[in-house]
Amino acid sequence: MSIRDIITVPSDTLKKISTPIEKVGVNEKKLARDLLETMYKSNGIGLAAVQVGILKRILVIDVSSKDEKKKPMCFINPVIKSLSEDTSIYEEGCLSIPDTFIEIERPKICTVEYVDINGKIKNLDCDGLLSTCLQHEINHLDGKLIIDHLSKLKRDIIIKKISKNKKNPDRILV
Ligand code: ZN
Repeated sequence: MSIRDIITVPSDTLKKISTPIEKVGVNEKKLARDLLETMYKSNGIGLAAVQVGILKRILVIDVSSKDEKKKPMCFINPVIKSLSEDTSIYEEGCLSIPDTFIEIERPKICTVEYVDINGKIKNLDCDGLLSTCLQHEINHLDGKLIIDHLSKLKRDIIIKKISKNKKNPDRILV
């Protein structure tokens, strides 16, 4: 397993649409393990492959609480089949958007069809934190970020602030 670098905004890669995985093989299994390890290291609860620069429709999630046993989940080619009219609001952060939290209202319950790490098609009803996290991660696969829920002005302010703080080895001040 290896820890991968997480891409942060501003980035064109994060805006791209990921492509479906045709077959779950050794590389996909390794990628899932790397994503989980990278996510745990960063104290995140979800991570999509695009966030480490791989434009494939695969994401990992673990919404277990700190004192619970780890519950890693991997979703390949996830498709949302239904969304509830009921909504819930969470203050969402994103590993690709440092130090930024945004209140986002999303459907409370979703049903997702996906391929699991063994290549089997599964269906899952998700509620609460899992539902929100899954919708957030599936948005990543479609090139959508939480800041896209904001007005362009607010979004530009956040990106400007982050790019200022980004360590850029090519930037010099003389
Ligand atoms: Zn995110």
